[in-house]
Amino acid sequence: MAKAEYGGEHMTDGPATRPGAARSARDRPGEVRHGEVGPGEVGPGGAGPGRERGELRADCGSCFALCCVALPFSASADFAVDKEAGRPCHNLQADFQCGIHERLRPEGFPGCTVYDCFGAGQKVSQVTFGGMDWRRAPETAGRMFRVFPIMRQLHELLWYLTEALSLPQARPIHGEIRRTLDETEALTRRDADALAELDVAAHRHDVNELLLRTSELVREEDRLEEDRREEGPRDKDRRDKDRRGADLIGARLKGADLRGANLRGAYLIGADLRGADLRTADLIGADLRGADLGGADLTGSVFLTQAQLNSARGDGATKLPASLTRPEHWPPSGPTPQRPRGKRADHEKSRQKSPQKGASRGTWRTPGR
Ligand code: SF4
Repeated sequence: MAKAEYGGEHMTDGPATRPGAARSARDRPGEVRHGEVGPGEVGPGGAGPGRERGELRADCGSCFALCCVALPFSASADFAVDKEAGRPCHNLQADFQCGIHERLRPEGFPGCTVYDCFGAGQKVSQVTFGGMDWRRAPETAGRMFRVFPIMRQLHELLWYLTEALSLPQARPIHGEIRRTLDETEALTRRDADALAELDVAAHRHDVNELLLRTSELVREEDRLEEDRREEGPRDKDRRDKDRRGADLIGARLKGADLRGANLRGAYLIGADLRGADLRTADLIGADLRGADLGGADLTGSVFLTQAQLNSARGDGATKLPASLTRPEHWPPSGPTPQRPRGKRADHEKSRQKSPQKGASRGTWRTPGR
């Protein structure tokens, strides 16, 4: 079994998708927040034909703070306290606002600033449960909290499938991707009981196969192009680039040639990736918390999410995929601030203790590849 496949929420400042960090959106329901896609706009990455990513972005103003209640977390570098699943966070107010929204990091909740539900929160709140919240209808709370993490997984799949559909290299399998996207969307429209019984792991497995093929098509095309430029295939270099699930915590990869690398699920916490070439690299589920991406080239990388990016450090020279935005906490230029000592230990603790909510690697696990 692979250690992890994909899905990732990370822990640093930056454009937030957590309810607590999205107070403005909740204060003004329906308002499009920074980085969001408005109604009728085509989503980032060019989006798939006919597909938009707007509904796959968290709209905390339309959600009943489900991630602050339904999900558990453990005391770690990312959360100041333990919290059981189904129990409201002690910082959650009656109006579903976070009481420490402005102080999440200094109060010890950096994990809340980068959590991404991919729009599952508003889907469960407004579609599955028709706008009836768990406070007014406490008899629905159990089912709502059970459905939320399932919906979150489905929306994460929709996000990746939409990206896959936008990639011209994956054109040979666009038909399959589109069918799977439609099937996944249909699953999200099931009623609460059907969702609660859904074998989401089996569906994720099927989707993962499709995403793997997409990744291989993208990286193979890049390899062929590289071969045309160089003097034939370079097998050793390619083997070195298969770092799937690798423990690269704190690795010194400054200036590394990771173009087209397979970094699926790799642990890159605190890695020095300054100036690295990560073009067309597969970064699905890679744990980039605290990694230094200053000056790195991520253009054309596949399955990198905004949450992963938010958790890392970078600067004005970091080149990003067209679908993602530069985190606001990154300095515009110059070297990124030094990582505090002891971060590896802190993140190791969170990795071990809080996989459920926080953390960076998310919930994605698939058997086999
Ligand atoms: S501190 Fe609690 S209420 Fe605030 S965003 Fe985090 S989980 Fe939600």
